[in-house]
Formats: sequence, C-alpha cells, structure tokens
Amino acid sequence: MEINFPFSTTRQNPSLMLPTPPTFTKMASMAFPVVQSPRNSTPISSSNKEQTQNWDALKFVRGKKLLKDLSTWGIGGPCNYFVQVFHQTHLLSAIRYCREFSIPYVVIGKGSNCLFDDLGFDGCVILNQIDFLERMEPGVYRAGSGFRFNHLGSLSCNEGFTGLEFAAGIPGTVGGATYMNAGANGQETANVIESVDIVTTEGNFRTLNRIDLTFGYRSSSFQDMGNLGAIVAATFRLERSGSAKKRQQELLKRRRATQPVNERSAGSVFRNPVNLGVSAAELIDKAGLKGCSIGGAMVSNIHANFLVNNGASTSQDMLNLIALVKDKVDSKFGVELEEEVLYFHPYWNYANWER
Ligand SMILES: Cc1cc2nc3c(=O)[nH]c(=O)nc-3n(C[C@H](O)[C@H](O)[C@H](O)COP(=O)(O)OP(=O)(O)OC[C@H]3O[C@@H](n4cnc5c(N)ncnc54)[C@H](O)[C@@H]3O)c2cc1C
Repeated sequence: MEINFPFSTTRQNPSLMLPTPPTFTKMASMAFPVVQSPRNSTPISSSNKEQTQNWDALKFVRGKKLLKDLSTWGIGGPCNYFVQVFHQTHLLSAIRYCREFSIPYVVIGKGSNCLFDDLGFDGCVILNQIDFLERMEPGVYRAGSGFRFNHLGSLSCNEGFTGLEFAAGIPGTVGGATYMNAGANGQETANVIESVDIVTTEGNFRTLNRIDLTFGYRSSSFQDMGNLGAIVAATFRLERSGSAKKRQQELLKRRRATQPVNERSAGSVFRNPVNLGVSAAELIDKAGLKGCSIGGAMVSNIHANFLVNNGASTSQDMLNLIALVKDKVDSKFGVELEEEVLYFHPYWNYANWER
C-alpha cells in the first residue's frame, strides 16, 4: 500500500536553522516534537577526512560516526563528536570534556529506543559500554549501565531468580532500561531495582536508593533530573523461583511469534493508552494501517505498533509515518497516541529545552 503523505516535507519557514548556541550544556533528552525534521539545514560533518581528538585517554571521532550504526532502527546521519566509554572514569571524563567545551551531549546504550535524524546530531554521542556484572549476594546483581539488559535477564533466570524474565526480549542496556523503566508482560525494571549509581553533570558520583526514585509507565525520575550526567550502574534484587526460566522461554517464544524480531525497529513506537482497555497496536491495526508505508518506513504486518525500516527509511519517512498513524487513529477513534520512542533533534536548543 502506497501512501502519499499529505503534508509538506520541506520546512517553509527555516526557523529550525542552527539555534542560539546553548549557554550551558545539558544532556539531550526526550521529547517528540511532531515537526518536520530540518531537511534544508546543512548536514553535520566536520570534514571529508576522519578527524580524531584525544583528551584524557579518550578518543573523540569528529563528524564521521553515523548514528544509523548506533541505533536498532538503522536511521541517522553523523554526529559531530563520538566517543566510547568502557569505565565510569571515562564516562566522567567525556562529560567533563563536553561541559568544558560547551558541547551538547547524549549518553546512549544500544539506541533501541531512539530515532536519530538523517542530519545527525550537532553534539557529542557518548556510547556507553560499561558492562561489568557483580553478584553481590544470591539474587542481587550490580550491573554496569552498558551491560546488556537481555543478558542480565537470561542469566538471572538461569540462576533461578525471578523479576527479570521480561528483560530477555529487550535489546537495550541496563542504563537504557533504567532510564526508560522498560517493561513487558506485567513486569517492569522499577520493580526489581534496589539502587542506581549515577554521575552528575558536576562530576559527582551518587547512589540513589529505590525509595529516592519514582517510576511510571516508561518513565523514571532520571528523565527529569536536571543534573543527571549519566546512569553508571544499577543494582537489582530478585527473588528465588523455580519457574522463572520456563516462564522466560514462553515469553520469548511468544515474542518471536508476535513481533518482527528480524526487522529493524525500535520496539513499540507508541505507548498504550491509559485506562482504555485497548492497546496502541490494536487501534493501529483496526485503523487498517498494517502494511502501510511511506518511503522505506512501514507499519509492521506482524505487530502494528512496530514501525519497521525496510532498509531505506529516512528519518523523515519515519516521522511522516508516525504522524500519519497518529492522525488516522485520532480521526477514527478519537485517541491521541503518544510516542514511546525518542526523537533526537539534530540542533536541539538545549538552553531553552522543555519537555
Ligand atoms: C525489538 C525491540 C523490542 C523491544 N521491546 C521492548 C519491550 O518489550 N519493553 C520496553 O520497555 N522496551 C522495548 N524496546 C525498546 C528499548 O529496547 C528499551 O526502551 C530499552 O530499555 C532502551 O535501552 P537502550 O540501551 O537501547 O537505550 P537507548 O535507546 O540507547 O537510549 C534510550 C534513552 O535512555 C537514555 N540512556 C541510555 N543509557 C543511559 C545512561 N547510561 N545514562 C543516562 N541515560 C541513558 C538515552 O539518552 C535515551 O534518552 C524494544 C526495542 C526493540 C528494538
């Protein structure tokens, strides 16, 4: 099914040209402006040759790292600065560097909930690879924020503990799952968190206990924490169970049968509406949108809340498809779907950033 998207794909008023430089550097975060991405702005690239900048044992790659290689959707242009961190001291150094040179930055894990723009990101992308795991006592795991959440889910069940069965199907990191309060099948990350270690934008390490944190449906205190530099590690307390492994295998089997696991996606694009007794996927399906595509972006035939990249989707294709789905569901059912995925604007004005 081919859809001619009814809206203009170029901005008439180029008010999204480079915004006022930020007066302070703040972590890029989520918001999903339903606007056209700034197609007529200059792509981000520092030069034709790869440039690197070394600072305090870190190597910053300038203008060459493509965000499509850092996200499960496989969409996104170059970022101005890119650095990988394997240890909390590297993470701290990377944040200090960005602060010192007033560079907007974002810390990412597997990019499995992110829509990056084809223009890229005019700031620094810090790829978190802090992936240690400590077994503090039976059933208590302290994992680096770059540790694979699905791996934590399967190893904890293998060791006979319940609480993270759902995690085995989530292709993100511990940091991303904590930040998003990832969940599925009646379980969520918040239920088993004991504490979270963070580094602040001022460079202080802190441990926050569960009682100090609030979580909601795909939301956490971290999303509103003005001085959050990054999540460094999280400690999970799980209960003994003889049936966790079996339940996990059933969940994985169901997931493989009902989700397009072999296609490029960011999982569920929309949150389920609260208190309506109907999921976003059902609404999209009933609106007749399965298989509907714009450019290389398509509503999955397997799961209607998954929008997949057929291989050639641009960020604008995906934004247009998201807008189209929202529009159709709203006009048919009067329900305003809200995005769960995060869009990273290439030239976000951090100084005036508002959720
Ligand atoms: C096939 C598929 C299935 C999925 N199924 C589910 C599901 O069942 N349930 C569910 O909830 N989600 C699901 N997702 C979405 C996604 O995997 C989760 O939201 C996941 O928790 C994101 O983790 P990440 O490491 O990829 O985070 P990213 O996508 O890299 O980042 C997400 C957000 O977290 C922030 N962040 C990441 N790491 C840190 C850190 N260390 N410190 C501070 N901020 C950080 C980023 O800045 C960004 O704002 C699915 C995705 C896919 C592709």
